[in-house]
Amino acid sequence: MKLVFLGPPGAGKGTLATLAKENLSLVHISTGDIFRANIRNQTPLGVQVKAILDSGSLVPDDITIAIVKDRLQQPDALGGYLLDGFPRTIVQAQALSGFEQLDAVVNFVLKDSEVVRRLSGRRVCKSCGTGFHLTSLPPKKEGVCDKCGGTLMQRPDDEASAIQERLRVYHAQTAPLVEWYQSRGLLKEIDASPAPETVMKVLKELMGR
Ligand code: ADP
Ligand code: ZN
Repeated sequence: MKLVFLGPPGAGKGTLATLAKENLSLVHISTGDIFRANIRNQTPLGVQVKAILDSGSLVPDDITIAIVKDRLQQPDALGGYLLDGFPRTIVQAQALSGFEQLDAVVNFVLKDSEVVRRLSGRRVCKSCGTGFHLTSLPPKKEGVCDKCGGTLMQRPDDEASAIQERLRVYHAQTAPLVEWYQSRGLLKEIDASPAPETVMKVLKELMGR
């Protein structure tokens, strides 16, 4: 199965992808994770895109498309995957349709006010990347990762100004993809406001599992 997860930042696509890859045995491919790993490892790509990610803008289409194309050709992706965070523009969607045949696009629906609440409270572990939330999923000890004892931090793009920019970019560039995929008969919508386990149940039903 070849799936795309679409939706605003903070809709829980990454969390759901982690649950779904076990439940539906798919490879999880997140462009955001790929960029962040490159930034962490200070690769040439990472150096090139760091300021873009920090500000909440989009990495140029040509760079992003080349990375995804390459990733989808690796052997583990051949049996099915879950694309999280790509495509984010019509140009990216058009490119993807040129080299891949998708089974479905799942649109995670969440209102802006909830996006802001979720993102502004999000914290991640510096060492292992595990995610927490100040109110909905607080760590046992403030500022410390439950899993590995690492220090929790706020992603630069979860700061208030970057959240506003990500929402602006989402509405301007990514939201038009909802109609684009709808008109191609691929779109499935899911309410992203309940707890992840609930969203996962609905997703499984949606996928006929
Ligand atoms: P979010 O939590 O906002 O859904 P991601 O973790 O998916 O964000 O992506 C983080 C950042 O990585 C984006 O704000 C953007 O700068 C960059 N990025 C990720 N995917 C893409 C893409 N498909 N096209 C352009 N930039 C991207
Ligand atoms: Zn940790």
